[in-house]
Amino acid sequence: MQLTKRQELILDIVKNNGPITGEHIAERLNLTRATLRPDMAILTMSGILEARPRVGYFCSGKKPGRMLADKLHQILVGEIKSVPVVVRESCTVYDAVVTMFTEDVGTLFAVREGGFLEGVISRKDLLKFTLGGQDIDKLPVNVVMTRMPNVVYVEPEDSIWVAARKLISCEVDALPVVKEVKTESAVAALEVIGRISKTNITKVFVELGAGDI
Ligand code: ADP
Repeated sequence: MQLTKRQELILDIVKNNGPITGEHIAERLNLTRATLRPDMAILTMSGILEARPRVGYFCSGKKPGRMLADKLHQILVGEIKSVPVVVRESCTVYDAVVTMFTEDVGTLFAVREGGFLEGVISRKDLLKFTLGGQDIDKLPVNVVMTRMPNVVYVEPEDSIWVAARKLISCEVDALPVVKEVKTESAVAALEVIGRISKTNITKVFVELGAGDI
């Protein structure tokens, strides 16, 4: 985070004299409190300074780089996930292509009865078979998809950093967000409740850069 000259000055004053009130900081800089208000807001919202009523401002001791890392671990998948676009695993490749276009997504999740995760279908999975000259009107998507247990997924309580790391390390564009549902069988069923794509992560990145979150 790049601080302005004035914000650096405020930081020095607080470092050397904190806790110190806003009024005293303003006096030292020969400015009014109103002029300083936006700077104080930025310094406190970014976590560099902390403010306590009737005590004043003091340094939090956190480094700006560490604060960004903290944010990435604090924001949860459940807060930024999108609506998942799902198809039944028995649907045809043709229907999957149509769904991808109409829903404007690059990844579909295949589910069985009850919305439980069975597989993932990417653009290239579909392209491969459309180019192969196969009858895509008859071919079911479960032939072309990546299926469980090979699907990489996240849960709503995971941090967006965990999601981003999985997207990069597994070289995929999207992850299903799932909720584990206990069943009678030994294998837990995963209900698809959301979608995290590289776009979701990029949106957070833009908002962090703009200081919106
Ligand atoms: P594309 O194939 O359009 O470049 P991806 O890079 O997302 O899109 O997909 C590459 C391959 O990885 C595809 O075969 C796809 O089925 C598979 N894949 C996509 N997402 C996942 C995921 N979350 N878990 C496991 N495999 C996935």
